[in-house]
Amino acid sequence: MKRIPEPFRIKTIERIALTTRAHREQALLDAGLNPFLLRSDDVFIDLLTDSGSGAMSDRQWAAMMAADEAYAGSRSYYRLADTIEKVFGHRHTVPAHQGRGAEQLLYPELVKRRGAKQPVFLSNFHFDTTKLHIELAGARALNALTKEALDTATYHDWKGNFDLEELARLIETHGAANVVALVATVTCNTSGGQPVALANLRAASQLAREAGIPVVIDATRFAENAWFIREREAGQAQREVADIVRDMMACADIAVMSSKKDGLVNIGGFCSFRDDQDLFRAVQERCVVSEGFITYGGLAGRDMEALAVGLEEAMDADYLRYRVGQVAYLGERLRAQGIPIQHPTGGHAVFVDAAALLPHLPADSFPAHALACELYLEAGVRAVEIGSLLLGRDPVTGLQEKAPLESMRLTIPRRVYTNDHMDYVADALAEVARRAARIRGMVFTYEPALLRNFTARFRWAGD
Ligand SMILES: *Cc1c(COP(=O)(O)O)cnc(C)c1O
Repeated sequence: MKRIPEPFRIKTIERIALTTRAHREQALLDAGLNPFLLRSDDVFIDLLTDSGSGAMSDRQWAAMMAADEAYAGSRSYYRLADTIEKVFGHRHTVPAHQGRGAEQLLYPELVKRRGAKQPVFLSNFHFDTTKLHIELAGARALNALTKEALDTATYHDWKGNFDLEELARLIETHGAANVVALVATVTCNTSGGQPVALANLRAASQLAREAGIPVVIDATRFAENAWFIREREAGQAQREVADIVRDMMACADIAVMSSKKDGLVNIGGFCSFRDDQDLFRAVQERCVVSEGFITYGGLAGRDMEALAVGLEEAMDADYLRYRVGQVAYLGERLRAQGIPIQHPTGGHAVFVDAAALLPHLPADSFPAHALACELYLEAGVRAVEIGSLLLGRDPVTGLQEKAPLESMRLTIPRRVYTNDHMDYVADALAEVARRAARIRGMVFTYEPALLRNFTARFRWAGD
């Protein structure tokens, strides 16, 4: 196939520079061996996250100039709400400063309304902040992810799918009345930005709805998921991405989204409701308390303008082909050099299988985190651990939980790097892989209680 280049040209550039190895060694030590704590000036290619790290378009910047910064009733809020109605089919929108802001409004309200004795949420896989807000609201977050996701070496189209049998079993054992909501995370970050098939989403949604359980879509990467459906699912190839998105959204009555991903903006989030006025009002009330008035929710008018444009740009077929294609390109470069990755690649990142690359390191010495530190030292590339470090401890027993996968995520910001950057990353990681057997595990020197991966500090095991 003829490779199609980036469907944009570059109008503004930002200088980045490679530091020396000695400089990086000192920088990483100062950061407590935690790449999250590095200064970004000390990073050459930043693949920490695709969250808020994308580049906006000329159309988005232009829309920002035309924003309405009114405290109440901003035109920009209505433009955003109209766009969400058009794209998701949801009439009611509550903006929030980012995804977890929206989660903190929605999940405690759902727990309160359901009034369950032993409340649980069921998901293909709860995102880490989602799990946290659910637990802070006094409920448990349980996952029913397809087992195919755990076999990183074998190709499977839908590694983000629900395990429907497990889902049915969980509803049965906990009792439908205790299930506060089903949360469908599209794409599924934890398994590698892997897509959920439309048929699977429909089946999971039907299981929940038949049991009277509300369905929430975590729509953070809705457009990338829709693209995979178009590419891979029978009968979808000729369809508009926007139509597929509407079908996905028809599976739920509530959406929650971090706009920092497929919203193509640097900050923002929202929850939206198809028609539940009551729930909408209750969430609005919470919004006023913690995010800001109901027509801005912690965002500037210009943020809402940029998001309204971004939601539509994210569904552009040329953009999505390039986006998903760039992730696949990096994945193929790594595979060609024998580096084990979650195969196929997902929508926003390449997940390197650190457990396979560093079999001598047990989960509680955080192999993927150790690998990320080595990659930074080698080449100034910042990656992130998605594994047991991120998962944390069991809230009841306090024991380290074992993640299904120990991944080092090379997360690709949207519309930022070229494939030359990807080549550099692949070559650097190949260099690190050659000395894999000598990479040591990590030990905490400081372990925070909540979301510990962000601010923890470490030493190398044996030091
Ligand atoms: C990023 C993310 C969130 C949380 O959003 P923030 O904007 O980072 O607060 C929730 N769900 C998913 C799937 C995400 O990727």
